[in-house]
Amino acid sequence: MNKRQLIGLIEQMKTFDAASAKVELEQYATDAIVAVELVFIAGFMHDDLHDRLVVDLGTGTGRLAISALCMGAWRVVGIEIDPDALALAKENASAFGLERRLDLVLGDVNALPTIPDNHKGGVTIIMNPPFGVQTKGADTRFLRAAMATRGIGVIYSCHLKNDKNRAFLRKLIESNGWILSELRQTTMILPRLYEFHEKKRKEIEVDLYRLVPASLTGTS
Ligand code: SAH
Repeated sequence: MNKRQLIGLIEQMKTFDAASAKVELEQYATDAIVAVELVFIAGFMHDDLHDRLVVDLGTGTGRLAISALCMGAWRVVGIEIDPDALALAKENASAFGLERRLDLVLGDVNALPTIPDNHKGGVTIIMNPPFGVQTKGADTRFLRAAMATRGIGVIYSCHLKNDKNRAFLRKLIESNGWILSELRQTTMILPRLYEFHEKKRKEIEVDLYRLVPASLTGTS
């Protein structure tokens, strides 16, 4: 499957609607183009998906999780705090015939369940956390939780792009014993979902981060 085909499939997935989306959890489905970009970087450029156990933090509608499975991930564990979102993810996984490879777990990322670290391929985390606009610090808490989890070989995460955020996140990453191995800027489209959205769609600049433990790169 090529990129364009995968984007087309992901765009057809069920997504949050205005009646049920929870603003305090910053529920926005990851833009299909960004989701596919992230899994192409992880899967093609770094071989971080093939045969891997992948954990998607704040799995929401399952867009990232399903994209990773389409790119050859062995299994994905999707962790999500909102049961309504999990129901959506489940429906989407079934529509793709992937429900047996996507384990959906109701849970809070701030109290991550133990992630099995004995799978031969290693564990990759992918996530599009809340950006911390509605609930201050939410993005940082996701990142801290991911970095603190045992057995994780690499983390891919999507964050709001601005200079202050970049400097802050870089410091946070390095002070936790991780290294920012790659940073890619891209554009994300947010469709109108919440009352305070004035436009039908809004473009925002986001950064895709790839993090690896400093201990694996010989710099610590
Ligand atoms: N990648 C997802 C969207 C992510 S939006 C998709 O494409 O649908 C962020 C998600 O994180 C939302 O679904 C939200 O409910 C969830 N979330 C917010 N706080 C959380 C927490 N503490 N633990 C687990 N999930 C959380």
